[in-house]
Amino acid sequence: MNSMNPDDPAERDRLILAAVDRFLDKEVAPYAHKLEHDDIWPADIVAAMKAMGLFGCIIREEYGGLGLSASTYAKVIERIARVWMSVAGIINSHLIMSACVQRNGTEDQRRRWLPRFASGEVRGGLALTEPDAGTDLQGIRTTARRDGDGYLINGVKTWISNGIHGRAFAVLVKTDANAKPRHKGMSLFICEKQDGFTAARKLEKLGYKGIDSAELVFDNYRVAGADLVGGEEGRGLQHVLNGLELGRINVAARGVGVARASLEEATAYAQVRKTFGQPICEHQAIQIKLADMATRVEAARLLTEQAARAYDEGRRCDMEAGMAKLFASEAALANATEAMRIHGAYGYSKEFNIERYYRDAPLLCIGEGTNELQRLIIARQLVARNPV
Ligand SMILES: Cc1cc2nc3c(=O)[nH]c(=O)nc-3n(C[C@H](O)[C@H](O)[C@H](O)COP(=O)(O)OP(=O)(O)OC[C@H]3O[C@@H](n4cnc5c(N)ncnc54)[C@H](O)[C@@H]3O)c2cc1C
Repeated sequence: MNSMNPDDPAERDRLILAAVDRFLDKEVAPYAHKLEHDDIWPADIVAAMKAMGLFGCIIREEYGGLGLSASTYAKVIERIARVWMSVAGIINSHLIMSACVQRNGTEDQRRRWLPRFASGEVRGGLALTEPDAGTDLQGIRTTARRDGDGYLINGVKTWISNGIHGRAFAVLVKTDANAKPRHKGMSLFICEKQDGFTAARKLEKLGYKGIDSAELVFDNYRVAGADLVGGEEGRGLQHVLNGLELGRINVAARGVGVARASLEEATAYAQVRKTFGQPICEHQAIQIKLADMATRVEAARLLTEQAARAYDEGRRCDMEAGMAKLFASEAALANATEAMRIHGAYGYSKEFNIERYYRDAPLLCIGEGTNELQRLIIARQLVARNPV
């Protein structure tokens, strides 16, 4: 222990990951099952994450964050999602908002917002989706109209993670509804809840319980011009796409976590459950499932690490993040399904974790851009990077 040097970044990362493991063992694992089944927002877990600085994971130290690389952040998220995926979601959209400000905000915006985001004093997320526009973000209808030195925002956002318990959101709007191309009329604002900005209702879901998904309503909500991210209209979609690279690495890491949890529980169960006089892990049909599950976990992790490394090196990584998100989310879904088959009836029981993984995994194929959209991104980049 004496040889530990917390000033060495690698050593520091190891200490942080060890602290995350202890937190998950003591403060999440014993409570996750009940909180998830009762769909209770985990106030104590959020308080502990605040104390650990996890809301500032990727925020630079000069702004009060931990300044973790995306590579270390992905390891944190894999660990959290292995225990309870919803907890990873509470940090994710908050940190996409933070990344949008850190990468694209003015210095004034960084100084005003990032320390409050890092401490968890102000938590929130990203408000893009609307009732009529998800994949086609350029089809949003929420508007921001100039009003003196600020703007008036009107519109509805839906499916917004942390919508009820969060206080500030990066909100994508149209500042010019007639712009051509459409993205040139899109801007991003940081909006803090006050008059004119309300969470209208909590949405009920198949899984991903505990974390709140909500509809947000803007009714002549006044935002200061100083909170237009980057200080320039027409760049909102670009800011969001930047932030979503980190979001997709998070979703990929969550996929690895859920795929790994499914594998670990299936591997253990297959050694204790007996049929025809032997543990089911002795049956070739089960061995094939376990082998495929284990291979998916390793491949998903390697793709996630590759995407995180590209992000850390400041390289364009939409293709890498897209591949990682696509593969790891499908791995989570496949492994949760196979774990259910291996567990037989017990996989279908609410007393075991497997049915939770089975309900949580499909979201990973939808959120942060559907897997159909990821394939389009990957193919477009593939062609762009390999011109003939
Ligand atoms: C639990 C949960 C949490 C969420 N959290 C947030 C959040 O915090 N913030 C936020 O802004 N949003 C959030 N979302 C919304 C999510 O990002 C959208 O659901 C997602 O982007 C897809 O949009 P959509 O549901 O409108 O589907 P649509 O865009 O209507 O797509 C429907 C289907 O058509 C396919 N499709 C669409 N266009 C194409 C195309 N060009 N080519 C091929 N296929 C296509 C899609 O892949 C999909 O299969 C959340 C959603 C859920 C379920």
